[in-house]
Amino acid sequence: MGFVRVGVRFRILLCCLERTGVIALDTAKTDSTRSDAPSGRAPTASPAVLNVLSIDVEDWYQLVGDQLAGGGVPRPEVLERQMDRILDLLARHECRATFFCLGKSLQHCPQIVQRIADSGHEVASHGWGHEVIQRIGLDRFRADLARSLEWLSDLLGRPVRGYRAPAFSVTPEQLEGFFDICFEAGLHYDSSVFPIRGRRYGIDDHPIGPTVVRERGDRRLVELPLATVCWLGRRWAMGGGGYWRLFPRRIIQAAVARINAEGRPVITYFHPYEFDDRRLRAARATGAHTLRSARCGIKQNLGRRSVYKKLDAILTRYRFGAMEDYLKYVENV
Ligand SMILES: [Zn+2]
Repeated sequence: MGFVRVGVRFRILLCCLERTGVIALDTAKTDSTRSDAPSGRAPTASPAVLNVLSIDVEDWYQLVGDQLAGGGVPRPEVLERQMDRILDLLARHECRATFFCLGKSLQHCPQIVQRIADSGHEVASHGWGHEVIQRIGLDRFRADLARSLEWLSDLLGRPVRGYRAPAFSVTPEQLEGFFDICFEAGLHYDSSVFPIRGRRYGIDDHPIGPTVVRERGDRRLVELPLATVCWLGRRWAMGGGGYWRLFPRRIIQAAVARINAEGRPVITYFHPYEFDDRRLRAARATGAHTLRSARCGIKQNLGRRSVYKKLDAILTRYRFGAMEDYLKYVENV
């Protein structure tokens, strides 16, 4: 009975969203079988817009262990397994993505960074220590960024041009100094701004579309903010993470169509753990059977296994590429 009630309520919600214009429900074939996509991708609703797919590559067990037990144990074999699924999915769709790599996790398995690059994707930086910028301040952020960029460029033999902050943790007060540091470090783009008013992050007066934030000569730093939908005078996040875990596929699909119809790219973010086909167990990562770790396990597993299928369906219908592909694309439009 509970499920029936939830289903009815959900249908009412869909109707309301459609009536008020926030979504346009797409009744065309939406499954991800290849029968209607001989070239690997069905015709897109907005062929003019290139969307952006990005993944923050970090070791879930290590980071959750840091939070819950003050010191996480890396599990590179799990990260490898999660990356297998992501890379296979992208290969099937012939889709490039940007992988923001975290130094602290990937120092234990640098072969993953190499594999990302060898698979034709873009490698960018997710910093080194995954420390919240709001807490560590801009000086320590500068050092963290430099360490990460140096390690990645030594590993790859070429410079790395993009960055995403841990947990979108730059504050409105830090933003100008943050952009200065990114520009000085030689970055071409940043994707750390979530232009919403969130509980833990967000800069709600920042432009919702890509914006040049620094320029000197022919060098630029572009901010590529995470995707939002405007509705009822508010901005609603829909770029990835918990939003994709919990929102039904039809809502996500309608949001992508709406953002593209406004001429904006959908800039997404995912994590390897969202593609793991096994249950995540926070307690096993920490050895601490606390209420907190149980809550973390429930929250992070809720709707998680649907992300793979949702992304599979979205990639069938819409154009996605890496951050650097988007920057080249806008130069040529
Ligand atoms: Zn992260």
